[in-house]
Amino acid sequence: MKIVVCVKQVPDTAAQVVVEDGQVSWGDAPLVINPWDEYAVEAALQTVLDQGGSTKVISMGKADETEALKHALAMGCNEAALVSDPALTGSDNVAVAKVLAAAIQKVGDVDLVFFGKQAVDSDTGTLPSMVARVMGWPAITLVSSIAELSSDAIKVERAIEEGRQVVESKLPAVVSVTKDYGEPRYPSFMGIRKAARAEIPVWDLGELGIEAPASVITWPEMINPPKQEVTTEIVEGDSPQDIAEKLADKIMAEKVL
Ligand SMILES: Cc1cc2nc3c(=O)[nH]c(=O)nc-3n(C[C@H](O)[C@H](O)[C@H](O)COP(=O)(O)OP(=O)(O)OC[C@H]3O[C@@H](n4cnc5c(N)ncnc54)[C@H](O)[C@@H]3O)c2cc1C
Repeated sequence: MKIVVCVKQVPDTAAQVVVEDGQVSWGDAPLVINPWDEYAVEAALQTVLDQGGSTKVISMGKADETEALKHALAMGCNEAALVSDPALTGSDNVAVAKVLAAAIQKVGDVDLVFFGKQAVDSDTGTLPSMVARVMGWPAITLVSSIAELSSDAIKVERAIEEGRQVVESKLPAVVSVTKDYGEPRYPSFMGIRKAARAEIPVWDLGELGIEAPASVITWPEMINPPKQEVTTEIVEGDSPQDIAEKLADKIMAEKVL
């Protein structure tokens, strides 16, 4: 089974993200693998463990954005490729989907593409379906487990608000994975050393054989959220009941309830 995992490099979720001069900045905070993508990598690795095959991890980003790829390699993925080209700066989802689809086509004979549920920065949660659309493949989103897998079909459970849904599909397919899939493994010491030495090939648009896809959505302005004045008060008391009563009085006095 030939598997591709798509991962995005994002600011650490603890980073203080602000807009400065119209540009988003997270200061010196580290860039990490999108946390949801660790579940996608785990799903890919478990699938290969069960079925045999190989995993290639792909990310589209700036020329030096290899941290997420190295994390996936350290977890156990076999190969990585960074898709990067100055002409892709400021791409919208449609453009990113077309570029990732071209990268998947370059890998060739792919059976399954895994994504995380969403990216924690742009947060649209749309890319897996859009890539599937460009490929002409089924998109199976919000997958919590794989029940059955053969060389040409997959049966999964989807975690949706109303409960669980079982879905069957032909392969090749695009699958996005939720947290319910199971804790992602920690990179092993050997894996970290291997990833640190890995030479990650960079695929530009020429290598993908495409022109920069046109973006239709632009972000002309970004604004910080309004500052909120917050004061904190610790309610003290002789017992939990005493504290609860004082807290209830304060809530009533503030007319919150
Ligand atoms: C500096 C900057 C400028 C931008 N400018 C614009 C703009 O002008 N107009 C606009 O519409 N959008 C813009 N974007 C947003 C960009 O189009 C989205 O980040 C991108 O399409 C992915 O969408 P998402 O992050 O919502 O991913 P989601 O759909 O939430 O992510 C779903 C899955 O796709 C994976 N994924 C997402 N991106 C990648 C990637 N690059 N490589 C591999 N896997 C990926 C995620 O990791 C996750 O597993 C900009 C983003 C950045 C960082």
